[in-house]
Amino acid sequence: MNILVINCGSSSLKFQVIDTDTEQLLAKGLCERIGLDGSFTYQNKKDGGDKKTVQTPIPDHREAIRLVLDALTDAQSGIISSLDEIGAVGHRVVHGGEKFTQSVVIDDSVIEAIRECAELAPLHNPANLTGIAACRALMPHTPMVAVFDTAFHQTMPEEAYIYAIPYRYYNEYKIRRYGFHGTSHSFVSKEAARFLGQPYESLKTIVCHLGNGASVSAVKYGKCIDTSMGMTPLDGLIMGTRSGSIDPAIMEFISHKEYMTVEGIMRILNKESGVWGLSNGLSSDFRDLETAYESENENAVRALNAFCYSVAKFIGSYTAALNGVDAICFTAGIGENSSFVRAKVCSYLGYLGIAIDETQNSKRGEDTVISTPESRVKVLVIPTNEELAIARETYALCR
Ligand code: ADP
Repeated sequence: MNILVINCGSSSLKFQVIDTDTEQLLAKGLCERIGLDGSFTYQNKKDGGDKKTVQTPIPDHREAIRLVLDALTDAQSGIISSLDEIGAVGHRVVHGGEKFTQSVVIDDSVIEAIRECAELAPLHNPANLTGIAACRALMPHTPMVAVFDTAFHQTMPEEAYIYAIPYRYYNEYKIRRYGFHGTSHSFVSKEAARFLGQPYESLKTIVCHLGNGASVSAVKYGKCIDTSMGMTPLDGLIMGTRSGSIDPAIMEFISHKEYMTVEGIMRILNKESGVWGLSNGLSSDFRDLETAYESENENAVRALNAFCYSVAKFIGSYTAALNGVDAICFTAGIGENSSFVRAKVCSYLGYLGIAIDETQNSKRGEDTVISTPESRVKVLVIPTNEELAIARETYALCR
């Protein structure tokens, strides 16, 4: 079945078409600057076409979806002859609150429930809903599925998700740890079990999803039992520009020192912190930081040391939460590409009997065991594929 996968942001929309029979990627692209001047990028992967970008006005998301559907059915560069060849659409939805513990077929009541969760993700859920509405308007008879970033983490026990603030805040406002990147954590932990040839239900796995946004999760016998992001994606690891966990009293301290509002401080914690802030604004891109680290640039050294240490600390605490660990997986932009970060994080893990094979650690782009055969815990690189995971979930509900 051909599945159209949509990841809709407030001013951008990414898409892929995946044939779930062969798991082949047929087409992919991106609409950017929706509501502004607009740009549309499309690539026919089925016939190996070149990536093409055109500047074109995209006044709203419906127009963006129209461009996508026109490109997919175009006589020259399209991959299908009619929209009937799209069996279903899978939408990435950021926040499913406590309502959604798994993916669901979208109907009016699901849309209403996603809207109710928007309070928890005010930047993301409304944009996701706009994408769903635009698709429904143009493909009214095609089944649609919502796949939630939070759903995989809904198996966390109370002691892992509850914050130690007055309990009524949980009762009244649902303030708790939700976690994000769930589609990736689920995909990677399953893929690790498949790659190791062991039953998913028998493994204790720690997944390190290290991209601009970064999170770690602990997966015990196929269920997530803890994760580092919290009620919002600001919590947990040091990230590209996000602070991760800090002492909350710092907010009051800065606000008094610099006469700042809560909104101003939130901007700093989200956009001006992380390795970008730690490196004094040198870069949030790990390629730049690693190059600067090699020439002993002190800003880069500080940022990368603190980042790798924060990952190693989470691995330690999740090893305790899991009462042991069988496999540690690295994924996403940094996790898949940075042999430097992987080696540095693992340098803290000798107490687990972990040893890294340098040759294996220099490989890229494929499932790889980077630990030595003697290593007591397997360390893996597993490239994530959130779109494929969304396509699989969508197919499972619509076949
Ligand atoms: P997101 O999806 O959260 O935007 P990605 O998973 O695409 O992020 O990861 C982006 C990060 O991956 C960037 O910080 C980038 O520097 C890093 N990255 C990409 N390629 C490399 C590489 N070859 N070496 C080190 N870091 C890399």
